[in-house]
Amino acid sequence: MKVAIVGAGISGLSSAHYLRKLCWEGGVPLELVLFESSVCPGGVFDTVKKEDMILELGPDSFITSKPWALDLARELGLGNSLVGVGYGREKNTFVYYGGELRSLPEGFFLMAPSRLLPFLRSRLFSAGAKLRVLFEPLVPRGGREDESIRSFVERRFGREIFDKAAQPLLGGIYMADPEKLSLSATMPQFLEMERRSGSVLWDLLRNPPTSRGESGARYGLFLTPLEGMSVIIERLCASAEFARQDFETPVLSLKKSEKRWLVGSERGEEEFDAVVLSTRADTAGQLLSNVDPQLGVRLSGVHYVSSVVATLVFEEKDFRGLPEGLGIIIPSAEKMNLVACSLYSSKFPGKCGSGKVVIRCFLGGELNPEAALWDEEKIKAVLKEELAQIFGFDNHPTEIYIRKYPMSMPRFALGHREEISRAMHRLSRHSGLALCGSAYHGVGIPDCARSGDLAARKIYADMAR
Ligand SMILES: Cc1cc2nc3c(=O)[nH]c(=O)nc-3n(C[C@H](O)[C@H](O)[C@H](O)COP(=O)(O)OP(=O)(O)OC[C@H]3O[C@@H](n4cnc5c(N)ncnc54)[C@H](O)[C@@H]3O)c2cc1C
Repeated sequence: MKVAIVGAGISGLSSAHYLRKLCWEGGVPLELVLFESSVCPGGVFDTVKKEDMILELGPDSFITSKPWALDLARELGLGNSLVGVGYGREKNTFVYYGGELRSLPEGFFLMAPSRLLPFLRSRLFSAGAKLRVLFEPLVPRGGREDESIRSFVERRFGREIFDKAAQPLLGGIYMADPEKLSLSATMPQFLEMERRSGSVLWDLLRNPPTSRGESGARYGLFLTPLEGMSVIIERLCASAEFARQDFETPVLSLKKSEKRWLVGSERGEEEFDAVVLSTRADTAGQLLSNVDPQLGVRLSGVHYVSSVVATLVFEEKDFRGLPEGLGIIIPSAEKMNLVACSLYSSKFPGKCGSGKVVIRCFLGGELNPEAALWDEEKIKAVLKEELAQIFGFDNHPTEIYIRKYPMSMPRFALGHREEISRAMHRLSRHSGLALCGSAYHGVGIPDCARSGDLAARKIYADMAR
């Protein structure tokens, strides 16, 4: 069978890899053709190798609590090259609040404490906020199918916990406004805890999700290939054995003709037995607007946000004010442009050579969309001013890499899960058509790998009918 893979990000390439595997196991001949609008594969993946440093300008690691990225990495022969995050380091997160860096208490997990003592001793939260959290078990269940992150956190834990911790932590992961983010599509485990135990606090205290010494993200669960994230992309391209890889070739149209699909690009139209669309959902929606207008409209409704990632390299001997931890989050109430800083050389000392401090700074997102439109000079000026404020010293980077990610992160609005399950239901009417990508099952790399796997299974099953 002849299959077109549209989009060479982790999702599309995973679908190609899994389809190759299924066809190989089933003895089915497969001709795969890749269409990609940019000059190279990888989508938002971007590894830069400079002297003895391996810098990640896009995603830097993946979580292992969802197994799909780890499984994929192992299948690609990368099992032995995966390294953990912040090995041997303090794994805490800081909040820049009221003009100083304060530790997020050990065991604090996204919106609530999973260990009481460090929380009660914390300098970050007021006595009133701590008392409010202790009363959380008395808060009745919400009873709604979906709710915004803001509404859920404020209802269960109060305003201060939202402002100082949940907003910058969860808003930073999704670069989105938590007032508009669906809890059921992003953090369903908290809804589940409320349903199961009636109290998120009780549930977290009984089953703490963080290891000792951690706060904020569960750093201990993340892995990264020592050679750089792009090695995953290289291995996927190799394992897919594409018959052709057309770069700088955006797919412009999609038509159904009898039992085949017509994929249109500037090079003309080409016939395929099946097509995997792994572009943004709204692009897939436009491509499908003639094939299935209802499906097209649903997909076009997914909203995306832009962000900027700046990676700064400093000489360690000259750097002053580096805290012992792995990340810094900045609540939007601080009215700064920076959303978060990842202390990359503390997270991945093995990727940074010796004598360097590397910091990744995140700007933009839904609460500050203009940042993605600024030129590099403006971004550098903002970074200089705000980093001096945060670290208390005006450190001078030796190198700065700035990458913009326009409309790259889907923002899961209220009701997203239902919308996507209706879209997938509709999709099942179309034999030989599959969708995958960060908009469907989750934005993280494991979810994207899984969406590629599911897309491959659909195509294979459709073709077997
Ligand atoms: C800055 C940043 C940092 C992140 N960090 C992490 C992290 O550390 N860990 C983690 O788990 N997740 C992280 N994520 C999320 C995760 O990396 C992404 O959700 C995931 O990589 C998206 O992969 P994708 O293949 O779905 O989409 P993309 O990577 O966007 O790939 C889609 C591809 O389709 C191509 N395309 C679009 N339209 C067309 C067309 N018409 N024809 C042909 N090709 C087309 C695009 O050029 C692109 O290459 C991060 C995301 C961003 C933006």
